[in-house]
Amino acid sequence: MDFFSDYTMTIDGAGVSSAKTFDAVNPATEAVIAAVPDADRAIFDRAIASAKRAFPAWSERPWRERQDLVSKLGDLIEQNAEDFIRLLTMEQGKARAGAEWEIGGSVAWCREIAKQALEPDMVENTDGRTVETSRMPLGVVGGITPWNFPLLLAVWKVAPALVAGNTIVLKPSPFTPLCTLKFGELTRGVLPAGVLNVISGGNELGEWMTRCEDIRKISFTGSTATGRKIMASASGNLKRITLELGGNDPAIVMPDVDVQATAKELFWAAFQNSAQFCVAAKRLYIHEDIYDALAEALVAYARTVKVGDGLQQGVDLGPIQNAMQFEKLKDLLADSKKNGHHFLLGGKIEDGPGYFVPVTIIDNPPEDSRVVTEEAFGPVLPLLKFRDTEDVIRRANDTEYGLAASIWSADADRARKIAQRIEAGTVWINEIHTFSPHVAFGGHKQSGIGIENSLHGLAEYTNSKTIVTNRMAPVS
Ligand code: NAD
Repeated sequence: MDFFSDYTMTIDGAGVSSAKTFDAVNPATEAVIAAVPDADRAIFDRAIASAKRAFPAWSERPWRERQDLVSKLGDLIEQNAEDFIRLLTMEQGKARAGAEWEIGGSVAWCREIAKQALEPDMVENTDGRTVETSRMPLGVVGGITPWNFPLLLAVWKVAPALVAGNTIVLKPSPFTPLCTLKFGELTRGVLPAGVLNVISGGNELGEWMTRCEDIRKISFTGSTATGRKIMASASGNLKRITLELGGNDPAIVMPDVDVQATAKELFWAAFQNSAQFCVAAKRLYIHEDIYDALAEALVAYARTVKVGDGLQQGVDLGPIQNAMQFEKLKDLLADSKKNGHHFLLGGKIEDGPGYFVPVTIIDNPPEDSRVVTEEAFGPVLPLLKFRDTEDVIRRANDTEYGLAASIWSADADRARKIAQRIEAGTVWINEIHTFSPHVAFGGHKQSGIGIENSLHGLAEYTNSKTIVTNRMAPVS
């Protein structure tokens, strides 16, 4: 198997190509790096049929066996880690350290989710009567993933779906399908045929999935706009949905922090993965007493960070992943310039090749400016000044999003009191982006519905079933 050519879909345990293909582009060079299969309706139907056929036997296998096989998926990724890291950088753009984090995380998630199980709950066990609630797999699950962390977010869906006894049809983003297709290829002959099917195509393929009567649940990570469409079309057969959507996360920096040390943490909080991160710190609220010092320290640290082709040594941050997102960021920067915002750093896009946006830091733009209210999903960060804690809590919550937030303070107890009032699924205090397969993650408000990770996340791949048995009733 050559990792860097011959991309095929995986259906019923075998490789499948298509008559039509589309291009995968390296965002650092704009070179076409692969022809990607474009599934038509007949291929889609085959994938669904295969997942449906595989479900009865897979769902009846003991948890232990399913767990072992999911753990093996982690081994497969680990055995091919170097190739995955290179391919991920080529298709997504992220630099080496980021690619290592994602591939390492994918291995860890397979192994850790494979340790999870949902034990039956004996709610009542009295003389002659038992009430027992257990969890049943749903059937065929549809997984739809975005282009910022293509393999890790696929694993976040595949691992719990399979451990819980479902089969899955997985569709990567058309912008980053390659690692997911190779992952599917590696699983052939390891998983029973049809348990994991990987198909590639455009957004239309996603729509077919959300309408398909044979799919019982959609697990989706992507934008809020698409999440709304999915929720609407999934209503046809009352699909279960887990939606992990956009965010516009506030970071609140109190005046008692060590400015130099915090500057570095905050830089990566905001710019990791070139800020193409649902939980990137996207609005940085800094107390006025340290605003100037922290802004200066952030800019000084940012000047030490190298943006470039992630395949080159010494590069810390890669390009924007695709031309569409690149154009959105150009438009956002133009809006800031038009409105006379003060740029502390960056803002100027050089001619290509490559979709490069420099690290850009904007000095206290108005709270209602687009760069503050919109999810930039790129390396454009507004610094915002505050004096009063009540005011900053109100401003942090003044958004339709509610994915995550962070608070930075030497007084962790005080920070915790603030955290309790922030409307978000996760609030980190003095650290950020520390995810775990065993910790619930999910958004409030327009950032999503449902949970990934933890036993709560696993339970979302099941229906609850209660059996009430009365052995004393006078029925005979
Ligand atoms: P997107 O919504 O454009 O696309 C995501 C996926 O949905 C792709 O696979 C796409 O092909 C598919 N799709 C598009 N239209 C569809 C439709 N009508 N029906 C079904 N599927 C459809 O998102 P994106 O631009 O790839 O990702 C960026 C967004 O994802 C950002 O908003 C980011 O915050 C969010 N995100 C959220 C999380 C989280 O965990 N909450 C994680 C990563 C990214």
